[in-house]
Amino acid sequence: MTDSQDPLLILDHVTKRYPRGQVAVDDVTLTVAPGETLGLVGESGSGKSTLARLALGLIAPSAGTVRFAGHDPGRLRGRAGRAVRARLQFVPQHPRGSLNPSLRAGEAVNFALRTHGTPRRERPAVVAELFRQVGLDPLLARRHPGELSGGQLQRVAIARALATGPRLVICDEPTSALDPTTQAQVLQLLTELQDRLGLAYLFISHDLAVVRQLAHRVTVLRHGRVVEEGRADSIWTAPQHPYTQALLAAATDEPSLLH
Ligand code: ADP
Ligand code: MG
Repeated sequence: MTDSQDPLLILDHVTKRYPRGQVAVDDVTLTVAPGETLGLVGESGSGKSTLARLALGLIAPSAGTVRFAGHDPGRLRGRAGRAVRARLQFVPQHPRGSLNPSLRAGEAVNFALRTHGTPRRERPAVVAELFRQVGLDPLLARRHPGELSGGQLQRVAIARALATGPRLVICDEPTSALDPTTQAQVLQLLTELQDRLGLAYLFISHDLAVVRQLAHRVTVLRHGRVVEEGRADSIWTAPQHPYTQALLAAATDEPSLLH
């Protein structure tokens, strides 16, 4: 990661107002460079998921601009658009909700490959390889989501995200529904995949202790606004904003620095 590399993702003064006038994301500017992990942290309701949806182009900003690899992610249509879209992927908080319960796990990944244009005869081998990449026995591809554990399901969701060869994966609280041991294993997997594939992550969590395990840089969101940002190590050692200090104190179970 060098300073001269163009960012993959750029949010420039982005605001999102919901119809009732509520401002969920308020004038946020941030970037994610190739190969890096930007941790986005803030308590529940601070606008993290709204920001993820803006970055994915699922909703349009009320003001400001979003660019992924130079394109508006909300306007990636046609063949060229799909090729760019393939580079931007998502891992959700609840894979059980995002995986069709009647489709076998392998079929979910196969479907992503089909959409991506991988020829039919190549897909079974690629599905098996993707399962191996996320640490799953390819035999599990035959199981339905109901027959897999939360950790296994999250690995399937990651395999599906990898199917299109992404450069940036947006992870919205990917481990918060998992028990601590499984959570640590999934975080380890994400780190290994980053090393192996050069992935960038926008890694979202309400839990600074989780973000701490893999973020290179951190942005702290409160009521939709950025209250602090910087290199991860300086955020941990010298948080400037009282809100960050309180989050950090909560994450380390130490008495709050505010008192
Ligand atoms: P977080 O992911 O940090 O918990 P969200 O982005 O989900 O925060 O929500 C931020 C704010 O926007 C909250 O006040 C939430 O109630 C509001 N909000 C989220 N989605 C919608 C929506 N579709 N319509 C109206 N308000 C919403
Ligand atoms: Mg959320």
